[in-house]
Amino acid sequence: MASAFLPAIEALLGTGGVLTGDDVRMRSSDPFRQVPIEADVIVRPRTTQEVAGVLRIAAEHGATVVTHGGRTGVSGGAHSVAGEIILSLERMNQIESIDPVGQIIVAQAGVTLGALQQAAEEAGLYYPVDLGARGTATVGGTISTNAGGNRTLRWGMTRDRVLGLEAVLADGTIVSSMNRLVKNNTGYDLKHLFVGAEGTLGIVTRAIFRSVAKPTSHDVALVAVPDNDAMLALFTRLQRLPSLSAFEIMYPDLYRIVTEPEVQPRPLPLGAHVYVLVESMGYHAASDRDQFEAVLVELLESGVATDAVVAQSDAQRAALWRVRESVEVAVHAIAPLVMFDVSLGVSDIDRYVGDVRAKLDEQFPGAKLIVQGHVGDNNIHLGISVGADTAAQAHAIDAIVYRGLIPYEGSMSAEHGIGTEKNAWLHVSRNGAEIALMRVIKNALDPDNRLNPRVLF
Ligand SMILES: Cc1cc2nc3c(=O)[nH]c(=O)nc-3n(C[C@H](O)[C@H](O)[C@H](O)COP(=O)(O)OP(=O)(O)OC[C@H]3O[C@@H](n4cnc5c(N)ncnc54)[C@H](O)[C@@H]3O)c2cc1C
Repeated sequence: MASAFLPAIEALLGTGGVLTGDDVRMRSSDPFRQVPIEADVIVRPRTTQEVAGVLRIAAEHGATVVTHGGRTGVSGGAHSVAGEIILSLERMNQIESIDPVGQIIVAQAGVTLGALQQAAEEAGLYYPVDLGARGTATVGGTISTNAGGNRTLRWGMTRDRVLGLEAVLADGTIVSSMNRLVKNNTGYDLKHLFVGAEGTLGIVTRAIFRSVAKPTSHDVALVAVPDNDAMLALFTRLQRLPSLSAFEIMYPDLYRIVTEPEVQPRPLPLGAHVYVLVESMGYHAASDRDQFEAVLVELLESGVATDAVVAQSDAQRAALWRVRESVEVAVHAIAPLVMFDVSLGVSDIDRYVGDVRAKLDEQFPGAKLIVQGHVGDNNIHLGISVGADTAAQAHAIDAIVYRGLIPYEGSMSAEHGIGTEKNAWLHVSRNGAEIALMRVIKNALDPDNRLNPRVLF
């Protein structure tokens, strides 16, 4: 199959535009484990027109196409099978323009999130979507997964930051919807078809992002709380702080692993019910810090917090964030594991975690459970290992996690998407009419199911 379309694609993209052999084999399509790329070829267009050309050639040959951004997605969306074409956006990595007054950044889809953040910073702006994989994840990937991350509670998910975009449909049609305006009610807002569509409706090639003014104050603290009521009281109080930008939770099993001496210093002793990283980013450098510390003192005095450490320098702020973002250490410590990304009401989270723990103990005595997440926006990530048998027991573990959400009306995917790994459980969060309408949209835009054919459904 590969030999049929390869000459035409090579002629279109030229030297360096096509990778085969070891250049394909050495890559993984998953960030936390080695998942070989099964496709024989990776094509690397430089322009939207070249993306369109590749899709036309794929259509002529009846080939399916899997899109790759930074391959940091954790739902298997980048996985491929033999005979497919991988289309990587890695050579479409240009920041095209920045408008500091309109706070607008125009970028190609293969720009990394970190590079977009850096470009914003250099222009006196701040691009607020942020996540641990910022150095590798692409902005096209963040659009396609509607990535959330660390500061969603203040500035929203990727959907809230995209003003316009350009995408190529399965038949090679270029849909340029590069809107720059905040207000533009002129029919369907087409960008939303592609945000969070996980590459099933089109390949995003360029986009227009809305950033914010760069904050002038930045404070970070790690807080220990004694029980769930205290965690909720902490969140309730901190939401009155206008500069609150993150409220991130770590349950003790995870906190212990990521703060073992060989990993990094432990900022607060063990023994708390949960640990919360709280962050304030504001525009009143002189008073933000005092306000932040005053609230923490109030919370300590009232017993809502039992202990807290406030970072005193950039290095200490980075160190506290490192504790929060050392998830990979915990993943490797309990591997093999299955990972989950769910959301449910903040007040329900602790009860739900208790339910999952109880069910695991019942069915898999000795199971390991690590929990962390962006609890300020309803979102926790769970990692579960039942030992060497974990992969074989994945369905039973899925059932505990996903069925457990039903009484709480939770979502089985908060920010990571469905990919190729969670399709069987979509019905937990979407009803039959919703799934049927999604299929209608898919059929209208990609009737031959050529783009990311195993994703979502
Ligand atoms: C350490 C770590 C921390 C993370 N933290 C977070 C977090 O806090 N919040 C969060 O939301 N996610 C998080 N993630 C998951 C991941 O980083 C995001 O899903 C990210 O948006 C994926 O971007 P990517 O470029 O790597 O996409 P990929 O993994 O390459 O692709 C993801 C999906 O999008 C499709 N796709 C990619 N680019 C395009 C495009 N241009 N057009 C159409 N479809 C495309 C792919 O086909 C695939 O289905 C984390 C991952 C890691 C490894």
